[in-house]
Amino acid sequence: MENQNLKKETYIAEDGLLYCAKCHTPCEKVLPHPLEKGKLWRVHLMCRCEREAYEREKAEREKQEFEERVQRNRMICFHEKEMYGWTFANDDGSVPVMEKARAYVEHWEDVRKKKIGLILWGEVGTGKTFIAAAVANALLDQGFRVLMKDFTEISNISAFDADEYVRSLSSYDLLILDDLGAERTSEFAMQNVFNVVNRRWESGKPLIVTTNKTVDELKGVEDLTLKRINDRILAMCTPIYVGGSSKRRVKADENFKNLGVIFGKGGFKHE
Ligand SMILES: [Zn+2]
Repeated sequence: MENQNLKKETYIAEDGLLYCAKCHTPCEKVLPHPLEKGKLWRVHLMCRCEREAYEREKAEREKQEFEERVQRNRMICFHEKEMYGWTFANDDGSVPVMEKARAYVEHWEDVRKKKIGLILWGEVGTGKTFIAAAVANALLDQGFRVLMKDFTEISNISAFDADEYVRSLSSYDLLILDDLGAERTSEFAMQNVFNVVNRRWESGKPLIVTTNKTVDELKGVEDLTLKRINDRILAMCTPIYVGGSSKRRVKADENFKNLGVIFGKGGFKHE
C-alpha cells in the first residue's frame, strides 16, 4: 500500500487540495490545526481507488479468516478426516430422507429458535451417520460450531474431567451423538451420558442422535437411568426413520405429528 502511495500520481486542483490523477478524488482534506489557532492542517485522505483497494483487501482477509475458522471447527467436529467429505453434495441419492436433513439445515434459524433436535433411527448401514455428518458439514460451512461424538466416547469420560467436559459440550451450536445403544453399561457411564444430554436440554440448543433402536425400544427400556436419558432425548428430538420397510416409515411419520412437527416432501413446517 505504501509503495502504491509513493508511485501515485497527483495534482493540485482548483480548490487547492491534492487530487489522485487516476480517480480524480481528493487525497487530502483540510482541518483547523489542533494546536495552532487560525492555522490549517492538511490530513491524508484515501482517494476512491485507494479506499476501494483497502475494502477489497479487508474483504479478502475476512474471507480467509472465516475459511480458516471453518476448517478448524471441522477438525474439532469430526474424529475421522473421511467425514469432511460426507456432504449433501457428495450424497449418491441412496438415502431418501436426505431431503429432510437438507430442510433441517435450510430452516436452521427456525430449528434453533424452536430447539428442534432429530433422532435418526434405523437399521445398521442405512446411512444415518452420513446424514448427520452432512448436516454437520453444511452448518460448519456457514460458520456454526458443531461437535459429533460417539455415545461410547461420551460414556467413557473419566471421573476427573467429567464436569468440565459436559460443560464444554454446551458451547456448540449443534451436538451430534452417534450410535445410541439401548443397553446399559456401568452406572457411572450412564450418568455421564445423562449429564451430557441433560446439559444440552438446559442449554436450549439442538441435539441430533443416531441409533439402531426403534423409537418403541428407546421408550420401553426398564433401567431407570437409561429411561431418563431416552425420555429426555425423545422430548428434544423428532424421530426420522432412515431406510427400511414402509410399515415402519408410517409409524415414524406418526411420531412427527405427536411432536407437532411435520417434515413434508422436501419441505419443513411446524403445526
Ligand atoms: Zn485514486
